[in-house]
Parts: sequence; structure tokens; C-alpha cells
Amino acid sequence: MGNRFTAYAESAGPGDLYLSNGGTDVFFDVLTLAGCHVAETPWQQNLVLLFADGHRYSQGFAGFDLGEIPWTVDWPAEKEFLLRVIDTALGRHGWHRLRYDPPAIAGQLARYREMVVAFTPAPVDAPRWGDWRTAPAPALLTRCPEHDLYEGEAGCRLCDPSIQPIEPIEH
Ligand SMILES: [Zn+2]
Repeated sequence: MGNRFTAYAESAGPGDLYLSNGGTDVFFDVLTLAGCHVAETPWQQNLVLLFADGHRYSQGFAGFDLGEIPWTVDWPAEKEFLLRVIDTALGRHGWHRLRYDPPAIAGQLARYREMVVAFTPAPVDAPRWGDWRTAPAPALLTRCPEHDLYEGEAGCRLCDPSIQPIEPIEH
């Protein structure tokens, strides 16, 4: 069981990214570590909350299509920001805060980056995830004192024993 990340609007793109459930947790961990570091605007914070709360209540159903993201008329800057988050993750931002070593994620992030590059967003009129130009509730942006990540709806994902290894890995 796993999760499929797609870019359906892009027929000539590099295809899908399919991740195991464990791989999906890692994917969202590293994107949250990167995103909490660089997000500033409401839209950017809402995107990072998607990662922070990703795959928490939805094991095996956390994949999404790039077209589902609530892009606005500012989509060029929004796409630029998503690429910046991915690049920050590829730079291993905050990985010292992980209690595991993620061996496969760099290749998966690079593939996802290719998908985003090939994807041309279109503004979404009535996005089912809401209007991301509206600032998230302040409580969602409260940061975990240990990991500096958004608490989101589900709490800091690096503090969640259901998705993190219990024992620290020796380095
Ligand atoms: Zn934490």
C-alpha cells in the first residue's frame, strides 16, 4: 500500500511518483522541515500545512494531483515557491532533526521536482482545499519547541510516534 503523486494535466511530463506508506511519511517529513523554514505568506504556509498534516489520518490515501493545489493568479510565484521547498529539502535542510537516515528520498524528491517543473498550474476557482490566500489559524502555525515545525491539525510530525522510529538511530 502506498500513495501516488500525479500531474495529470501534464501528458508529456515525467509521469507519477509512487511512494510506499513509509516513503510517504519521509517525503512529508523532509518537505515539512524545508517548508517551515522558508514559508512566509499565507499561501505558502497553507502549502506547508498540507505537508505537515500529510498522511496522518489518511494512510494510503495521501497522494494528490498537482492540479488539486489551490493555485491562484499568482501561480508562477506559487510554483516557484514549491520548487524552492523541494530544493531546500534536497539540500537536506533540518535532516539532523530526523531520527532516521532517509536513503531513497533524494532521488524521489528529484523526480517530484521534474514533475513540478513540467507542470503548468491553472488558477482554481473553487478549490476543495479552500482559499489558500486566507491566513491559516495561528494555532496551526504554532511551532514544536523541539523540532521547530508547524503543529498543524495533527501535531508536530516528528513528535508523532506512530510515524517516527521510537529509538534514535546511532550516527
Ligand atoms: Zn516535534
